[in-house]
Amino acid sequence: TDFTSLGLARPILLALSEADYGEPTPIQAQAIPLVLEGRDLLGIAQTGTGKTAAFSLPMIDRLIASNVRPSPRGVRGLVLAPTRELADQIAKNVRKYSSKARFNVNVVIGGVPITRQMRMLSRGLDILVATPGRLLDLYDRQAVHFDDLEFFVLDEADQMMDLGFIHALKRIAALLPEDRQSLFFSATMPKTIAELAGQFLKDPAEVAV
Ligand code: AMP
Repeated sequence: TDFTSLGLARPILLALSEADYGEPTPIQAQAIPLVLEGRDLLGIAQTGTGKTAAFSLPMIDRLIASNVRPSPRGVRGLVLAPTRELADQIAKNVRKYSSKARFNVNVVIGGVPITRQMRMLSRGLDILVATPGRLLDLYDRQAVHFDDLEFFVLDEADQMMDLGFIHALKRIAALLPEDRQSLFFSATMPKTIAELAGQFLKDPAEVAV
């Protein structure tokens, strides 16, 4: 298979060809059609498998298809990552994959001044990549809201748990609109993480690589 047969929109195929991606990796081949159908997804996959594109490409496709503008301080797609490094890495890739779609993509992480992030969020974003603590800080300051949220991704759930983000994640889960599509990734799936996944996902399809 190649990316063309997966049904991704043309701007995404152009960006992939510019990035020299020839064939989807196994997690991409499994996940992308399910997400394009609108399913929630529980993915068991490690870094290095092409997981970032597996969730980013169909997210970008769905957001192109719905074609609404974010309201001030709103976000249409939200990706949560456990660390600043990973959040930056994901944002870099999402920018690359959406480079032909005129999307506003940005990242908010802890440890850097918050006022600049508040200003950046004020116009609204197509896709925001965030670490959980800083996202809640911004929410509490009314710099961001989730009324426009269509698509949610939680990456590296097991690392999130190890870093003590469980309460932050449960709080975020309660703030998101019910009517959304959600993807949840972890390298391992012990009971605590399966329970957390249950708070985010509705009738999820499962993929493992
Ligand atoms: P990830 O597992 O998402 O961290 O991706 C690992 C690396 O593989 C990243 O550098 C990606 O840019 C690259 N990559 C992901 N999918 C593909 C693909 N289908 N073809 C070529 N490179 C890819």
